[in-house]
Amino acid sequence: MKALSIRQPWAWLICAGYKNIENRNWRTNFRGRIYVHVSKTTAELRDPRVKQFVVNALGDQARTNEIETYISDALKFSYGAIIGEVNIVDCVTTSDSPWFVGRYGFVLKKPILYKEPIACRGKVGFFIPELHHCSQCDRLVEVIVVEIKDSFGRLAKKDRRCGECGYVFKTIKGKRAKKD
Ligand SMILES: [Zn+2]
Repeated sequence: MKALSIRQPWAWLICAGYKNIENRNWRTNFRGRIYVHVSKTTAELRDPRVKQFVVNALGDQARTNEIETYISDALKFSYGAIIGEVNIVDCVTTSDSPWFVGRYGFVLKKPILYKEPIACRGKVGFFIPELHHCSQCDRLVEVIVVEIKDSFGRLAKKDRRCGECGYVFKTIKGKRAKKD
């Protein structure tokens, strides 16, 4: 499944079911379910204009305890992680949603927020994270590929490891490692 990296507080607002539009300056034809990845950038969380925009867009919902708790704790929230999922159902250039600013709005439906974020590196635009169920952690984790070199500095093997605990899922040796 594809993932899209989104800055806070937008990523949380989407997964918690408040924000139904993701604004981008590029169009997408993709429709379907995506992972919501939180980028490491925190600039928007510190920007008072962003907070005011969120409060305005939320309207009456801004008074819920959940929002107040989130805004006060926002900077402690997990970054570089997948925090939930949502469906992209349309891509529009106009919308009545208070969250729409353009240029393009990805229309979002059926969000979920995970109880525990999955630590994962992000990329610009859509990307496909490699996730695997770790038997040691007993949860979904990002697969990290670690290259192991021989004494001549040549690639000897690659380990595919759990991004959380380092447990080795699979080792690829010799020639196969070079092709990978
Ligand atoms: Zn693990």
